[in-house]
Amino acid sequence: MSKAKYIFVTGGVTSSLGKGIISASLGKLLQARGLTVTIQKFDPYLNIDPGTLNPYEHGECYVTDDGAETDLDLGHYERFLSQPTSQANNITTGRIYDNVIQRERKGEFLGKTVQVIPHITDEIKNNIYKLGETGKYDIVITEIGGCVGDIESLPFIEAVRQARFELGPTNSASIHLTLVPYLRAAGELKTKPTQHSVKELLEAGIQPDILVCRSEYGLSQDIRKKLALFCNVPINAVIEARDAETIYDVPLLMRKEKLDERVLSKFKISYKKEPKIESWKEFLGKLKNPTGDVNIGLIGKYVELPDAYKSIAEAFVHAGAANECKVNLSWIHAEDLDGDNVHRELKDLDGILVAPGFGERGIEGKIYAVQYARENNIPFFGICLGLQCAIIEFARNVLKKKKANSTEMVSKTSYPVIDLMEDQKKITNMGGTMRLGSYSCHLKKGSRAHNVYGTTKVNERHRHRYEFNNKYLEDFENEGMIASGINPDTKLVEIMELNNHPWFVGTQYHPELKSTVKDPHPLFVRFIRAALETKQTNNL
Ligand code: GLN
Repeated sequence: MSKAKYIFVTGGVTSSLGKGIISASLGKLLQARGLTVTIQKFDPYLNIDPGTLNPYEHGECYVTDDGAETDLDLGHYERFLSQPTSQANNITTGRIYDNVIQRERKGEFLGKTVQVIPHITDEIKNNIYKLGETGKYDIVITEIGGCVGDIESLPFIEAVRQARFELGPTNSASIHLTLVPYLRAAGELKTKPTQHSVKELLEAGIQPDILVCRSEYGLSQDIRKKLALFCNVPINAVIEARDAETIYDVPLLMRKEKLDERVLSKFKISYKKEPKIESWKEFLGKLKNPTGDVNIGLIGKYVELPDAYKSIAEAFVHAGAANECKVNLSWIHAEDLDGDNVHRELKDLDGILVAPGFGERGIEGKIYAVQYARENNIPFFGICLGLQCAIIEFARNVLKKKKANSTEMVSKTSYPVIDLMEDQKKITNMGGTMRLGSYSCHLKKGSRAHNVYGTTKVNERHRHRYEFNNKYLEDFENEGMIASGINPDTKLVEIMELNNHPWFVGTQYHPELKSTVKDPHPLFVRFIRAALETKQTNNL
């Protein structure tokens, strides 16, 4: 068995209490005490991964360096810890069953009846221990998605029970996140839902060591005593998690409540020193005391659900803080834009980002938004489909190829500036078959991209099937849209930018996936700077 210590985070009463943020915040605090930490999430649904899920169902699909399509909580883990995650950090019920069933087909169970217990729970435990066994981490935090008592999370809870038994009391800690609601009619906070939720956990054989209680109001000493008494935890293990102004406040709030110290005492790790969180505080200081502001429009297709663009929104938070500037994000539905209203709808923006996406819906509105940004010298940032729209717009309106399109939208277009990648043409299975994960990109010396990154070689993450059709590259470059980033192995175009424009950059990859509190992404930082400059010049 590895030397790693394991923290299990479960949730009760309701979903959406913020287990991901609590896990990331605790991870941050432990990391700030010099421990190496990784965070893993189990999702109890049957999809193998969220890659084929509609963003309305599940929010953004976050992509790791190794090309795993994962839950958006992994984005929080990376943004907080500044450390890459991988396929091993996100496992679904679907993947667990798939692994077990594949082994059954190979005959690996030697004629035994294959069952939830022990085979499924063993597979879950293997996936828990696997990260610790790499020897890279002192602490592995495992977040169990869903709520205690859900039928579909039962095998995970049972696996946690077994793992806690196998690991022993000083090598594992169980944190249960619940809601302590405020009943206006009674004028008080109510502990009963938490008591019930803990009972449910106890029934499954798990006594939580620490309770983290989400609440709109502070927990009085009386409430803490009551929770401690009825849930069998020491009073100092009742942790208040008040609603915070931003998710980035949560590590400091958890520090104030000494969540890190409770965990370390459980593990018998001494903790005399304070965690080193000065740079985090500095970031928060800048975030909360902006000296200016900019209006950025995010033109997308899933704007009713901001979670669909989580990493982009967070990358703007990081880039705003780096510029000491508040970024006011306007979420604009691409479908609502047309040639008549685009000027009116976008005129108050200092910068325009056209978002990633799939399929035809909203595509023409996105193209109008690009045209508006290009013609009116508004800083423009296109990501993935956003870059593809910028290419189509340029082909139609500058190269005068009115029929230009992506073969994703019109398969038989006469001017296919965006086309399916060669190795995508024979693919019929939709799950996990896009161009996924980290690829290297060479930047053209002297280009804006080179200037922004300050280097000629970068690695960025991808999630797409279509690409710029290199057949037309010369036409584009002759008119001032240049390919400033190229994949050195395949020659696929990764970045296009416009000469003669204050800031017009599109990337085939997703830079937002690598922006963290510690290292805000340079493209976002410089885009915001360009928007600030545009605003200043327009106000002169
Ligand atoms: N639909 C486009 C493609 O598959 C863009 C994908 C995206 O924006 N992530 O290439």
